[in-house]
Amino acid sequence: MSMAPQTVTLLLLINTLCLLACTAWLLMARVRHFARRVSWVMAAVNVLLVLGIGLYALRGRPDWPALLTHEGSVTLLMAAFGLMCSFGPLIALEAPRWRAPAGLVLATLALLLLLPQGSRWWLTVSALGITLMILLICHGVYIRLLRVVKAATALLLTLPYILLSLMFALRGLGFVLLDPSQQGLLTQSLTNTLWLWTGFLMVLLINAQVAFMLVLRLVLQLQQLIHQDALTGALNRRAFELAMKQAHAAHERGQAQALVLVDMDHFKRLNDELGHPAGDEALRWLVARVREVLREVDTIARLGGEEFALLLHESDKQGAFQVAERVRARLRQLDWQWQGRPWPLRASFGVAAWEAGDSGPERVLARADAALYEAKRQGRDRVC
Ligand code: GH3
Ligand code: MG
Ligand code: MG
Repeated sequence: MSMAPQTVTLLLLINTLCLLACTAWLLMARVRHFARRVSWVMAAVNVLLVLGIGLYALRGRPDWPALLTHEGSVTLLMAAFGLMCSFGPLIALEAPRWRAPAGLVLATLALLLLLPQGSRWWLTVSALGITLMILLICHGVYIRLLRVVKAATALLLTLPYILLSLMFALRGLGFVLLDPSQQGLLTQSLTNTLWLWTGFLMVLLINAQVAFMLVLRLVLQLQQLIHQDALTGALNRRAFELAMKQAHAAHERGQAQALVLVDMDHFKRLNDELGHPAGDEALRWLVARVREVLREVDTIARLGGEEFALLLHESDKQGAFQVAERVRARLRQLDWQWQGRPWPLRASFGVAAWEAGDSGPERVLARADAALYEAKRQGRDRVC
């Protein structure tokens, strides 16, 4: 078998890239303590890729056992992609799922042991096994991305895996259509050169894609920290002020916008009698119940203490009244309990809508505040 310099150089390039990526992931895990489990997995994936591709390249050399260069290389490559598939959910902070990838590795290896080693069908099955594994990764990545980005962006971000699976599928088909003896990885041929170049780009893209997903996760976590109230998960005051400005802009474009201020009744008494943890739980419970009444487009924010604001889009004052009444009725209807002790959770509501001539959101806030004050003055547990 002739060692063509171009293919050897490309193979060395792929291995160098994998080792560099492995070092970067190890540094992330050990030094930066960033996404440690994912970083460890990616370091292992790159090592497995180096070994798998290396053994693959040694196929047909008499000084290397065929079991190692054939079954060994397929196992290592499938293990690399299988690890990515199993531990991919970690990127979305979910538990690993290893059953499907482990099943696929075992099924492929079992099938390979039944076929004559290195035969046309053996080569096809090995390439298609890897193709299926990459498609499994692709599916998982796409599903998880869909939760945070639009379908087109999710598709774009899964492109490295789609191309990689295509590459292995074509290689598998190539074994059926062409003479397998010509398919040694280091044999000088246009197909091999193209395949190795694609392999190089894919290793680069896979590592970059996982790094990008981790950065995306970090950005989403930071956004949450900036905009969310830690106790209840509602928007915090900063995000509420931003939403009020957006609602005002929508009002100026002619859209009806309304605001409901909510203040729990006698909340201090609840804290005093049942304790602070009970108060915290009551606040979380209230937000969850309000969410059941609101539409997807509406906003709930915690302004501080036991005061909340509901920002209702494309809703007039009458609509906002109805929403507030629905929340009030829900609180009365569902009995809240703390450690088996029932406690009547009640709230007062102040409603206001944007009106022609409102120069800014503070005008609406002042009217809603006055309405809430009136509800308290009239005896609480009511909408004004
Ligand atoms: P009113 O019916 O007039 O609204 O009376 P109130 O007792 O609800 O109102 P007040 O403003 O006197 O008391 C609010 C209480 O809310 C006081 C405070 O201890 C409690 N509180 C504020 N923030 C939190 C919180 O994060 N957790 C808990 N458990 N209690 C809180
Ligand atoms: Mg109160
Ligand atoms: Mg209050």
